[in-house]
Amino acid sequence: MVQKEIRKDKSLLKIFNCIANGWPKSSKDLPLDVVPFFNRHKTIIIVDNCLMTLDIVIIPAIFQIRILKQLHRGHQGIQRMKSIARSYVYWPKIDTDIENNHVKQCQNCASVAKSPTKTELSSWPVPHEPLERIHIDIGGPVRGKYYLVMVDSYSNWPKVAQITTITTTEIINQLHEFVSRYGQP
Ligand SMILES: [Zn+2]
Repeated sequence: MVQKEIRKDKSLLKIFNCIANGWPKSSKDLPLDVVPFFNRHKTIIIVDNCLMTLDIVIIPAIFQIRILKQLHRGHQGIQRMKSIARSYVYWPKIDTDIENNHVKQCQNCASVAKSPTKTELSSWPVPHEPLERIHIDIGGPVRGKYYLVMVDSYSNWPKVAQITTITTTEIINQLHEFVSRYGQP
């Protein structure tokens, strides 16, 4: 649906043009409706004829209300709605839209806002092949050593590396080694 409608969205069509012809150096040279996208323009790519910023779908105007309604389902309150939105969908002013779209007046959402945030248990999506996703964590110390544990989510195959320091450099080195040996997750 997004693929189809995005071609009718005048603002988003201009983004396709920017990607094809190159973005201007300054947002001043952009049409006004494209300016809000400028600060993230380096992350915007075309995937299957849709626009994405990182792994978030840019939603054509025609679907925005619908998405807001969907995000509002379950009445999790404004903050939670925003954080769910941030993982999946984007359009300029989405945060303001979330605030204004009935949520402020919504009794159910208001009661959520008063109670402390509950951590929701949710499962990771089931991977379809090896190295689709790896999970990593640091264990230890055990006799002064730490262990970087990397687990392939598909096979549960673990790779454990003994490390002496838990610094970013050390973790990056270990991940480099992992990727060069087993491939890119
Ligand atoms: Zn609500």
